[in-house]
Amino acid sequence: MCGIFAYVGRQKAGGILLEGLKRLEYRGYDSAGLAVADKDKLRVIKKKGRVEVVAAKARRARLQAVMGISHTRWATHGDVNDTNAHPHLSDDSKIALVHNGVIENYASIKKFLESRNCSFQSQTDTEVLASLIAYHYAKEQPEEGKNRFLESVRKSLHHVEGAYGIAVICADYPNEIVGARKGSPLVLGVGNGENMISSDVSAFAGRTQNVVYLDDGQVVLITRDDFSVTTMMDESVQPVINRVDWEIEESVLGTFSHYMEKEIFEQPTSLENTMRGRFSDDGSTAKFGGLNIAARDLRQIDRILFCACGTAWHACLVAEYLIERFARLPVEVDYASEFRYRNAPLDKNTLVFVISQSGETIDTLEALRESKRKGFRTLAFTNVVGSTIARETDGGIYQHAGPEIGVASTKAFTSQILLAAMVALYLGRLRDLSFNDGTEIVKALKKTPGLVSQILDQADKIKAIAEKYADSRDFLFLGRQLMFPLALEGALKLKEISYLHAEGYPAAEMKHGPLALIGPECPTVFIAPKGEIFKKNLANIQEIKARKGPIIAITSTGSDFPEDLADDIIFIPQSHECVTPILAAIPLQLLAYYIARHRGCDVDKPRNLAKSVTVE
Ligand code: GLU
Repeated sequence: MCGIFAYVGRQKAGGILLEGLKRLEYRGYDSAGLAVADKDKLRVIKKKGRVEVVAAKARRARLQAVMGISHTRWATHGDVNDTNAHPHLSDDSKIALVHNGVIENYASIKKFLESRNCSFQSQTDTEVLASLIAYHYAKEQPEEGKNRFLESVRKSLHHVEGAYGIAVICADYPNEIVGARKGSPLVLGVGNGENMISSDVSAFAGRTQNVVYLDDGQVVLITRDDFSVTTMMDESVQPVINRVDWEIEESVLGTFSHYMEKEIFEQPTSLENTMRGRFSDDGSTAKFGGLNIAARDLRQIDRILFCACGTAWHACLVAEYLIERFARLPVEVDYASEFRYRNAPLDKNTLVFVISQSGETIDTLEALRESKRKGFRTLAFTNVVGSTIARETDGGIYQHAGPEIGVASTKAFTSQILLAAMVALYLGRLRDLSFNDGTEIVKALKKTPGLVSQILDQADKIKAIAEKYADSRDFLFLGRQLMFPLALEGALKLKEISYLHAEGYPAAEMKHGPLALIGPECPTVFIAPKGEIFKKNLANIQEIKARKGPIIAITSTGSDFPEDLADDIIFIPQSHECVTPILAAIPLQLLAYYIARHRGCDVDKPRNLAKSVTVE
């Protein structure tokens, strides 16, 4: 969480920093700030609130400096207030620093520095690092020919436990910025007469497409015309410059009110992009460029463990049902944050599969690393090209869903389900799934974007339903089998952006507790498409109706859903079972979106949340 952006070049840094920061705001938005080196003095402008609040203050300051660092915060240590906002200055005002992550041993460093008469302004873990660097800078004489500023950063980081991505400036070095990372993302942007450091390449949009993805344990020094990458032990690193390929327009809101709305409506296109070029010539299976595992080796796998967090974890549950059905392979799904600490005994033929939109989710990344450490093969779905998970996994499949800015995941979720279906198909065809069954699945998957468009055409109707129930305080979301993860996702979407209480449950489980919530005040969203267990679902709906609970049913056309059974019915097209989870996701997203909008919530930046969860 949190976004860092640092710039050194020929142009005035203030506006450039703020523009980059705006693009990073999805990463954290409780406060923002920047620091520039101005005539051997560091100037800091920071404030509680959105980037726009700082921008207004910075404009009035008429900054002339051509270099600086900036930050948009998602607080971990200390209240959300002006003082705790980044950048943080060292006690002697020589060093300014922005930080993403958590310094776990900050209390002992603080105690040490306090014993050296250093005082602190904020409650953050970050401020101690600024003063620790200043301490080393003042105290230590670097070896002949070494950069004193750089060495003081390196030296300080040897004492730090925890995770960080940092950018640092020093009043005595007004042309240099030092960055470093361990556990939090950091990318270097190589421009023409300007260089940049950021948490995410999106901050470089419009300035450079040449980027160097830094690895954990690396330190970077940038000046206007040069950069160098070294390790913590000062070994030099040969940087690899990658070219990022993005369309800036993709991140622009256009005529939509929110990014979430735009991203919901983009799904016919994003799903098309996820599938593009990924079916075999004979039309019976999927193919993936980046798997890095031969079909022969994949056949030896006899168990798959999926790990993820949040919405991606729901996509893993869909993958579980589909892979077990198509490939008859046992699948287990775990929260990445649980798996990484629970020392699970895994069979040697287990494949570990992680899913993360950002490719930076810290718990998922650590679950991947733990699996690799134990010698397991790893695969990943990520949406962000060049992200840490994409670079560290043995084999990877990009989602190609395009940039997702809204904090609540929508198009990334459906592209993850689509890939799950394609992987299930691929694994199935390596085993016992017939050519005919494979062909039928491919045909069905190819139709998905068109079917999603049909549901989007009903947006006005879904909006009216959403507004009817928008004053309820509690919601229940129910579904069975493949619709159970969708029930979880529907409830999560609503919680995230409308701050209403919602619970997702497997429908049959409701009698074991949640039914007690039911009454005229608590609507149930029941996802009951046509299928084997349709009748069981109808029986559960009857049970809710008998207790006067309002029902919003999501069912498929031609399912013979009794009209008088539900208060409101949303129809999704009838399709193959592997497509239905994608179709069911759309009305759930629209319901959550329109309820939140009706309630006046900040849909794209819900309180307390941030998009890329890089602290554990
Ligand atoms: N731990 C730091 C703070 O609370 C940085 C949080 C972040 O990653 O934004 O300020």
